[in-house]
Amino acid sequence: MTIYDRDFGVGHPVPPIVRPWPLPDRDTTPFWEAQNRHELAFQQCVRCAHVRYPVGPMCPECFSFDFEWLASSGRGTVYSYTVVHHQTHPAFPAPYTVVLAEMEEGPRVIAQLRPAGDVRPAIGAAVHIEWEDGPHQALPVFVLDSGQRTERLG
Ligand code: ZN
Repeated sequence: MTIYDRDFGVGHPVPPIVRPWPLPDRDTTPFWEAQNRHELAFQQCVRCAHVRYPVGPMCPECFSFDFEWLASSGRGTVYSYTVVHHQTHPAFPAPYTVVLAEMEEGPRVIAQLRPAGDVRPAIGAAVHIEWEDGPHQALPVFVLDSGQRTERLG
């Protein structure tokens, strides 16, 4: 496929659409490396055992800087969700459903629901994480456990 490009003119090949990916920093590099191994890693405070996410340098409960990495089971329940109908990036065709899931370890995690489309999971439905490998970074997606309800509104 070719299109007109302002800088290159007619016939310039369309570059592949790549999903945006995170840029790891000093604090988040181990987290992103774990995701490339298909592991969801939380930080657990060594001092008070609080499990936290997203990644940060300090425990929000006791202000300790000491933590260990804790591998999540990847299992949780739907806390909330939204169906996106307005496409804002070419790599994310609408509609798609974004889930906020409460994980077994406590933190709440946001990720797309698979399969894509206008899928409305029941609040409290059991989900688990699966992984999508991108060219730069593996990212989690939620999948409803078998037998979980979905709701079609309207
Ligand atoms: Zn703490």
